[in-house]
Amino acid sequence: MSADTQRTVKTTTCYMCACRCGIRVHVDDPGADSKDGRPVVRYIEGNPDHPLNKGVICAKGASGIMKQNSPARLTRPLRRKPGSERGAGEFEAISWDEAFSLLESRLKKIRESDPKRFALFTGRDQMQALTGLFARQFGTPNYAAHGGFCSVNMAAGMIYTIGGSFWEFGGPDLERAKLFVMLGTAEDHHSNPLKIAISKFKRRGGRFVSINPVRTGYSAIADEWVPIRPGTDGALLLALANEIVAQGLYDRPFVARYTNGGQLVVVDRDSPRYGLLAEDEGVDPQNPHYPQNKLWWDRHSNGPVPSHAPDTDPALFGRFTLTDGTHVQPAFQLLAERLAPHTAEWAEEITGIPAATIRRLAHEMGITARDQKIELPIAWTDCWGNEHQSVTGNPVAFHAMRGLAAHSNGFHTVRTLGILMSLLGTIDRPGGFLHKAPFPRAIPPSAKTPTGPEAVQPGQPLKGLALGWPGSPEDLFVDADGGPVRIDKAFSWEYPLSVHGLMHTVITNAWRGDPYPIDTLMIFMANMAWNSTMNTVEVRRMLNDRGPDGQYRIPFIAVCDAFQSEMTAFADLVLPDTTYLERHDVMSLLDRPISEFDGPVDSVRIPVVPPLGECKPFQEVLIELGFRLELPAFTTKTPEGKAERRYRDYPDFIVRHETEPGSGIGFLAGWRGAEGDKALRGEPNPKQWEMYAKNNCVFHYELAPSYRYMRNWNRGYMEWAQRNRLRRWGEPILVHLYSEVLQRFRLAAQGKWPGRRPPAHLAPRVEKFFDPLPFYYPPLEHELTDLARYPLAAVTQRPMAMYHSWDSQNAWLRQIHAHNYLFVNPRTAHTAGVADGGWLWVESPWGRVRCMARYSEAVEAGTVWTWNAIGKQPGAWALEPGANEGRKGFLLNHLIADELPQAEGKNAARTSNSDPVTGQAGWYDVRVRIYPAAEHEVFPTFPVLQKVGA
Ligand code: SF4
Repeated sequence: MSADTQRTVKTTTCYMCACRCGIRVHVDDPGADSKDGRPVVRYIEGNPDHPLNKGVICAKGASGIMKQNSPARLTRPLRRKPGSERGAGEFEAISWDEAFSLLESRLKKIRESDPKRFALFTGRDQMQALTGLFARQFGTPNYAAHGGFCSVNMAAGMIYTIGGSFWEFGGPDLERAKLFVMLGTAEDHHSNPLKIAISKFKRRGGRFVSINPVRTGYSAIADEWVPIRPGTDGALLLALANEIVAQGLYDRPFVARYTNGGQLVVVDRDSPRYGLLAEDEGVDPQNPHYPQNKLWWDRHSNGPVPSHAPDTDPALFGRFTLTDGTHVQPAFQLLAERLAPHTAEWAEEITGIPAATIRRLAHEMGITARDQKIELPIAWTDCWGNEHQSVTGNPVAFHAMRGLAAHSNGFHTVRTLGILMSLLGTIDRPGGFLHKAPFPRAIPPSAKTPTGPEAVQPGQPLKGLALGWPGSPEDLFVDADGGPVRIDKAFSWEYPLSVHGLMHTVITNAWRGDPYPIDTLMIFMANMAWNSTMNTVEVRRMLNDRGPDGQYRIPFIAVCDAFQSEMTAFADLVLPDTTYLERHDVMSLLDRPISEFDGPVDSVRIPVVPPLGECKPFQEVLIELGFRLELPAFTTKTPEGKAERRYRDYPDFIVRHETEPGSGIGFLAGWRGAEGDKALRGEPNPKQWEMYAKNNCVFHYELAPSYRYMRNWNRGYMEWAQRNRLRRWGEPILVHLYSEVLQRFRLAAQGKWPGRRPPAHLAPRVEKFFDPLPFYYPPLEHELTDLARYPLAAVTQRPMAMYHSWDSQNAWLRQIHAHNYLFVNPRTAHTAGVADGGWLWVESPWGRVRCMARYSEAVEAGTVWTWNAIGKQPGAWALEPGANEGRKGFLLNHLIADELPQAEGKNAARTSNSDPVTGQAGWYDVRVRIYPAAEHEVFPTFPVLQKVGA
């Protein structure tokens, strides 16, 4: 360090993965050794004063320096060279003013004619509250982030069952749990906090069981690894739940009071209310959206009573007749009947886990929950007015992620997990699963999309939210014929509960013009020409394909990214984004905050170095476009009617924007009010950013102890959450062991619902998959695959040292992974004649790729796997054309179909390779075979990308 160099340490929030740890960045301000007068990032460490990571940092986080210095940075706006082909990556630099003018004139025309011809889809960004607001203001329904191809099944399966989900919105209470069961989780979600929690849990003597086809990451330190065949977790969970019910190990008081297990279901097949919960017409439903007039059958009086009436106790088993002659059964009885055939032996056949192991695990879960109860001296009052002197809990905790979610049967698998956790009595109780603000939410949450195409009007904001939570067929976003309104077909009869959209269908649908063509596709931070797309070779062809008129089928593609990815090559316009060290960001309660179990937490990023070259944060691009397009939320009008800029820039927007004028609710919850002395709700505070800067970039609101548990049914918490707009309604959130929401869709498919009905060709699909009770079916792709020819499952994971494709340009992290292997169990490899370190073909019904084998005992014999997104197109990410990523690395996506012929017949229409309930991409359903290859045999091959943007 030269004498004139000034070193400062600045706090901000990491973004080398999505976990959002607090970091301290050591920066040398320009001194003699600064080449260009720019500050130099010297060192990044974990921030010990940050609640999330408490000083811990991982290899990725520490390597942010090399992201900052990456040769793949884009530094100027770029326009595709006239006459060059998309995908060739030939660009010319233009000014920001030219880029904005180009977008402004194009988007203005679209907005004034047909706003849905503009589509905005974003990847693993952390600004969905802003991108969603922009799209809504523009008036397009065609907006979503990456959730549909990531883990929407995890969100939807859990939220439609328990009112909350894992990771940002809830997780295992490992401080008090005695048994921790992890399913389908690599080491990538909630990374550092979970590592800290697991290490403390194990030191306290807790037992950790990992159920996963692969033993890596967290699973490597599990006390017991239970290998399972991919896509079969639903069968295991049904068998575990069945054992727990059959052995009487479920928490009866919890099930009776806090789930809908005691509520009565109409079982008369001829009744128009067949399969719905019986209601007492004489009782005020209180809230028509979440009616509170359901019935129990009281064990004391042996008759029907309003659900949760004082001094009553619901029967969980039986068949009863109401006074009007209607036959009913408790939902729990129906669940128990559903579970009964799912024996451990049945599950063994499907999962490969011995029946004795399944029984032992179920017994261990059941007796740990029953016999090791926790009691905390915390008084609280439930929603029905009962006062409790303590909070109790059952110390069995679960965690699950994409391994369960990324299958076409994932919704019901995850729903079954929520049911199992509820049978064990572990929802929002110490030692089990705990919510994080803003969850729990109503089932389903109250946010809704519009319900018809009239919501999209020229020159108008969208009338409703682009994403929501359907509760019945009336909430679908469809036209009069039941056809989709959105380009990705979300919220249509094909994928009714696609609450995160279906980003993975956008390019194919837009290329085909199904349901309609679009004009402009804007992509932010998503590598849709490579690792974020299935059927990669074909999708790349679609991006570059022209119609009979010689024009591109997707006429204009704008891509905003900080780095030269495979996707930027297909852009007509490239907008250079900043890195996370160069911009402001918020991790907001309106979006995906970093809340703790004990209360809401939000955080920010504050630039530690100025943007490189002409890089501009995407948020600033949206604020500027919002002004230029005169979108109401981003402009004010002079008395003469001239539009003026409402916000100076993004930091100003964050401070001053309120959800509604005067609501006191904005993006940041800390230091609100003119004096900065209010929390969660209060007038905008112009000094809010300064307060976050002084406080480690984080705001933590600690709930009163009596509000920290049982939040689905905690009256004090509900009132507090309503006052602070975390919840709209205050009704208790009973766990949906039985899903009335799903039954409404099924009734519609059966022609018995009084409202909307699905188109005839989709009715059988909706009827089958909208079962109000959990069930197992093999992944859809398996029904179409010759399983004898393709006997192996193939899955991917993100490595610990890299996040998606983000880090293959990182000089330090490339020393850990510069190419990937296909990991194969030695027994499987020997059978196939594949050598350790040898070349092999991995082939699915949809294609084949050449790769390199690595023997591993840490994978069950019926599965092969690899790290995701290490293989690269040569030249992309500014890698040397001969770099290992393009030469030895490979991408499994080439083998994964984006669409499947419908199982009913070869001539039937194709449908997305997605879960039929939620539209979750079925990444992990592909089946493959392996056989030896020679080094010179390479497929598929791609042209070398030339470097741009320097
Ligand atoms: S886990 Fe690592 S990469 Fe992810 S936010 Fe934390 S320090 Fe950064």
